[in-house]
Amino acid sequence: IDHLRRGTNVILDGTLGTILIDPTEEEIAEAQIRDGKRLTLESKLKDAVGQPSITADGVVVTLRGNVDLPEEIEVVAENGAEGVGLLRTEFLLIGRNEMPGENEQMEFFTRVAKWFPNSPVIIRSYDVGGDKFPAAFRAQREANPFLGWRAIRVCLDEPEMFRTQIRAVLRARALADVRFMLPLVSQLEEIERTRDLMTEESERLDRDGIEYGADLPLGVMVETPAAAMMVDQFAEKSAFISVGTNDLTQYTLAIDRGNARMASKFTALHPAVVRLLKRIVDASNQERLEVSVCGEMASEPLPLLLLIGLGYRVFSTSPVTLPLVRWLVRQFDVPTAESAAAVALEAPTARDVYEVLEWRLRDMIDPDLLDLGPLPGS
Ligand code: PEP
Ligand code: MG
Repeated sequence: IDHLRRGTNVILDGTLGTILIDPTEEEIAEAQIRDGKRLTLESKLKDAVGQPSITADGVVVTLRGNVDLPEEIEVVAENGAEGVGLLRTEFLLIGRNEMPGENEQMEFFTRVAKWFPNSPVIIRSYDVGGDKFPAAFRAQREANPFLGWRAIRVCLDEPEMFRTQIRAVLRARALADVRFMLPLVSQLEEIERTRDLMTEESERLDRDGIEYGADLPLGVMVETPAAAMMVDQFAEKSAFISVGTNDLTQYTLAIDRGNARMASKFTALHPAVVRLLKRIVDASNQERLEVSVCGEMASEPLPLLLLIGLGYRVFSTSPVTLPLVRWLVRQFDVPTAESAAAVALEAPTARDVYEVLEWRLRDMIDPDLLDLGPLPGS
């Protein structure tokens, strides 16, 4: 870029992340068509925001937002989300040497909930560890940090920190429909130990005469193959299930979700992930538990079609993707999604899953309007 002559023509494609220098007439014409389609889609998405999230054949879908940072809350509300399906709490720890106190957390949780008076806010316990530890921790270096001291494992080993967070959530529950969920669960004991801590902290709040919500629902994120295989028994101990497909894909395929070299093989459309997703939705329905998906998968056209076909009806996605997800839901019809999912469940490769979804999607949407992502690599 530094070496470009003044007056040189360039095509800058923010979606693809490319710059084309000195494009040909043909390339300029193609870019104009792409840009036209982008604008068409943008106006469709804008219109969708005020519309209900129901499929073309009238099935109701619940859309919530994922919140990493406080400034995203307003965007989630503006995009018509029915609450927060994943409130990540790690930002509370960033850039400080001391852990946030109970009052500070409680105030933050109730402030978020005020934006959504008729919908839930699902607070996730600290998902620290992996490769990110806040300054307040003295964590040892690990050879495989994503297979090590992370998330619920850290919380249960640091009970004072966890108890403070639990008390804050219990107190917020007295004022709003907040719920609590645990990341990276792989053992039933992790749910039971958390429940014990919740009981103890409730008793303590009782003794201190502080108001709290005794009916705080405790949910489990299914993010490991262990949790997916055990989901029937985990569901019996949980108030709801939320599937973290980013981690579930990473741990099922043994592919680091951040590894650029492996990116073409990192896909939730791998048949192994598809089968686990089916198992999770079936077991949750069996227990009559709400089951949602809060990983990135739910905001991409083909994976979303698959999830609807498998039976998922609740999604939580990043704030900016909410209009797209709402619009997609309104184009899809459930029988078409189900027939695609049935084929996907028998498919031998991720490529086959992709192809059947793409083929079925074409019946409902002009695929040129969308970025469907690359075919999974082999
Ligand atoms: C996930 O793993 O899919 C998820 C939602 O959690 P995070 O991306 O924060 O690990
Ligand atoms: Mg995760």
